[in-house]
This record gives sequence, structure tokens and C-alpha cells, in this order.
Amino acid sequence: MDLSDIQKAVGLKSPIRHQLFIDGEFVDAISGETLATLNPHDNSVIAQVAMAGHADVDLAVKAAHKAFPAWSRMQAADRGRILLKLADLIEANGEELARLESLDTGHPIRDCRMLDVPRTAGCFRYFGGMADKFQGETIPVDAGFLNYTLREPLGVVGQVVPWNFPLMFTSWKMAPALAAGNTIVLKPAEITPLTTLKIAELMREAGMPAGVVNIVPGLGQVAGQYIAEHPDIAKIAFTGSTATGKRIVQASAGNLKKVQLELGGKGANIVFEDANLIAAVNGAAWAIFHNQGQACIAGSRLVLHENIADAFLEKFIALANSIRLGNPLDPETEMGPLTSAMHRDRVLSYVEVAKAEGGEVLAGGVSPGGDLANGCYVKPTIVRVKNYKDRVAQEEVFGPFVTVLTFKTDAEALDIANGTEYGLGSGLWTTNLQRAHLFAREIRSGMVWVNSYKRVNPGSPFGGTGQSGYGREMGFDAMREYTQVKSVWVNIDAQIKPHYPR
Ligand code: NAP
Ligand code: MG
Repeated sequence: MDLSDIQKAVGLKSPIRHQLFIDGEFVDAISGETLATLNPHDNSVIAQVAMAGHADVDLAVKAAHKAFPAWSRMQAADRGRILLKLADLIEANGEELARLESLDTGHPIRDCRMLDVPRTAGCFRYFGGMADKFQGETIPVDAGFLNYTLREPLGVVGQVVPWNFPLMFTSWKMAPALAAGNTIVLKPAEITPLTTLKIAELMREAGMPAGVVNIVPGLGQVAGQYIAEHPDIAKIAFTGSTATGKRIVQASAGNLKKVQLELGGKGANIVFEDANLIAAVNGAAWAIFHNQGQACIAGSRLVLHENIADAFLEKFIALANSIRLGNPLDPETEMGPLTSAMHRDRVLSYVEVAKAEGGEVLAGGVSPGGDLANGCYVKPTIVRVKNYKDRVAQEEVFGPFVTVLTFKTDAEALDIANGTEYGLGSGLWTTNLQRAHLFAREIRSGMVWVNSYKRVNPGSPFGGTGQSGYGREMGFDAMREYTQVKSVWVNIDAQIKPHYPR
């Protein structure tokens, strides 16, 4: 099928964008090279997408520099207005974006409609409103002086986005950067560029000046690495694996770029003896199985009090086995394929790791076969492990794969929760108020959910500690990340004596 046939088959009203977006125009790569993006349901080719090389990134950086003075000096409320308009356009084109995201990533269409699209619009809207509300301070300093701070944009920022939530993460990255007055060169993941390019089209419609946002799909090791190294880029914001995050830190050293990293996780989800069991079972399933487990904050380590473990697991296994796998474009589908065949194989390889470590597979552990045999599917997988230090309970699997551990005492539960190199998201289920707050304080992670899991909101800071990275997305913290502080001293007292009176 060619591109327009695919467009019709998926029910898309507008053509699928497949070129780079530089200086307000969709263009081919200078080299003419392209990269196929696939539908993970059956691994068929959706589109050949232009692949940016160094020369294309250079053009994007130039365009972003040219656009910076006007964009950063524009009245903040006017920048905000463009983001608000974009949020409206995202909603107006919601079905289009949902279908495109589902096609390219394998997210169930029902999730795209209910979560990815509204959250993307919500994020642009929140930061559209934020643009003229983020402000400096006046500071009481020495008598006779007025001291105040300016929050200035950084300049051209580089952003590298992964494939697990391409649409939503495009908004998390772009919205605060733009609200603060920066201009952008963004590289989507090579396997999921389509919705980011659609956002570029909507930006243009919203009145975004040319060059403010530039999108350069391409290879991480080429375009991504070059963005991280680029001497004319002031900051790099990255979401992805811890290993790549470390490479980015090294690459950024040349011009001492500001770096923001949102990396991997191995979220503990602790269920205490006094928890509401039904709520915990449902919440734990959402925590790990939503988006096929491809979430840095996934609750991938289930930590159960031994007295309720059997009762919990009986219900949890039944729920996992009942999740409807299928074509993500089918509204009945609850779980789609993983986003690539390579990633499916990597996830399945952890079943072997678990078995070798003496783990017991309680559910799943295989691809479904049948109609889904050509796709990147993995059944919801539950593995009971022997020790929380086992590899399978330490390394990020990033799939519908949860490890089960049990504990006797609260102290033991805390040791397990804090016993990985990561520190991104974690959850706990209890009806004991004191315990809830104590654990919220003691757990080493950037986010803690009590009697819930995986809630996000554009107002609430999102990020990690340890090997999960540093910096925060969302809220006022994100605005701080995308600005630098300038301290201005003004002598307001003519009587102040100079240091060398003559
Ligand atoms: P990854 O390599 O970290 O990729 C994330 C992004 O970084 C992609 O856009 C990638 O481009 C780009 N990239 C790769 N190498 C780069 C480099 N040297 N310099 C600059 N950018 C570079 O992640 P992955 O290999 O796709 O996934 C592997 C694992 O990462 C997953 O299993 C999971 O553990 C973790 N992960 C975490 C998150 C998260 O939300 N925290 C998201 C995705 C993955 P390409 O697309 O061309 O590779
Ligand atoms: Mg794809």
C-alpha cells in the first residue's frame, strides 16, 4: 500500500507528514535519505520518513537562532496565545492524532483518545496559560540598592524524545520551552516520528512563527548525538534510556550545555496488608500494563505483604489474563503490540533471565501467536522472583512484565523499594495514614502515588533521582529548567559612597 492508501485505510483525513520541518517548511533531508517507520501490529511499512543528518540539523539550528530574538522578546501573553490556539487545534484534530499515534506506536486507540491526545492538548494549554505568569523576584539586599531577577530564556534548546509516548512527550518537552521564550530543535524517535510531524503542521496553523520549532527525525547516533554536541545549542532535554543519557552528558561537555534527563525506572508498587485489595489489584494492573508497560514510571516491581500475596495474586493473574490484546486501531483492544520487534524480543529475553534466576512465570511470558503472530505482541507477564537483587528485579524491562516480591515488615518493604539504582516513580497501597506519609517521605523517588499509580498532570513536577536522571518536567519547575536567572543590581541612593573616593 502506498501512503495515501494507508491514509484512507486508517481513516485519516489529511496526508501523513513524512518530511523534516525546518524554518516553517516541510523539506526532504539534504542527503535525500529516508527511514521507514512501521506499524507494530503487523510490521508493515507506514511511511518512508526523511532522515536528518548533520547538515539538516545545522539548518534547523540556524533557523532557530534566527527566530529567537523576536520570539523571546514577544509579549509573553502572545506566546501563550499561540500555545492555547495549538491546544484547541489538537483537540479539533484529536481523532486524527489518535489514529496516527495508534498506527505508529501500537497504543490502543481507546488510550490515545482518552489519554494521549487530551494530555497533549492539556499540556500545551497549561503552559500557554503559564507564559505570562512565570516571573522574577525582588530581593531585599544592601540598603540603597534595588535587586531583582529576570528569568531569561536560554536560546536554542535541543530536545530528544523517545518512542513510548511520542505525542505526549512532544508536548512535555516543547510547551514549557516555548512558553519561556526558547526556540527548539527536536528529534523524535526514529521509529515513531509521525505525530510529532503532525504537531508541527498544527503549530504552523496556530500561527507559530517560522523557525521557532524545528523537527528533525533521524538516527539517535547521528542527529541526536549531533544535537547533544552542537556548539550553538544552549540546552539539551532528553527522555530515554539511562545509557543514552550518559552519552548525552558527555557530548554536552563541549559547550557546557545545560542538561535535563528523564531516564529509566523500576517503580516499586507496595501493597500493605491493610490495603483495599480490589483497588490495589486494579491499580497495579494499570501501573504495569498500560501502554504495554512501556513507561519509565511503570510499576514494574510489585511488592506484596506476604499475608495478602496469595489473595492479591489470584485476582491480579485473572485480571492480567483477561486483558484483550489486539489490533490497536480496534476500539475494543486494551493492549496493543510493543512498539518494535527488537523491543519485543528484548522483553521476551527477560523471561529467560527470570527462569535462569529461579523465577516462576505466573502469567504470560510469550507472544500470543494466531492473528497477532506478525506483530510485536507480548502477553501480560507476571513473574515471581526469588530475591529483589536478581537482575530481573533490578533492570528496566520496559514491557508488560512485572516482577513479584513479598515482604514481612515495613522496614523490609522500604529496603526493597529503595533497592535499585533508579528513583523515578513508586506507589503504595494502605489505609494507614501514618504509614502512607512516612513511606512517601522515605521512598527515594521523584514521584510517589498513594492509593493510586501513574497519575500525571501538567502542574505537578515529574522527574527522577539517581540513575533516573535529573531536572523536572511540568509545572513551575519546568519553567525554571528552561530559563536562566539574571540578577540586576540598581543603585537607588545617590548618597552611596564609591569604593575609591577621590
Ligand atoms: P534510547 O536509545 O535512549 O532512545 C531515546 C531517544 O534518544 C531516541 O530518540 C533515540 O534515537 C535517541 N538517541 C539514541 N542514541 C542517542 C545518542 N547517542 N545521542 C542522542 N540521542 C540518542 O532508548 P531506546 O534504545 O529506544 O530504548 C531502550 C530502553 O530505553 C528501553 O528499553 C527503556 O529501558 C528505555 N527507555 C526509557 C524511556 C523513558 O521514558 N524513560 C523511553 C524510551 C526508552 P533513535 O530513535 O534513533 O534510537
Ligand atoms: Mg512506527
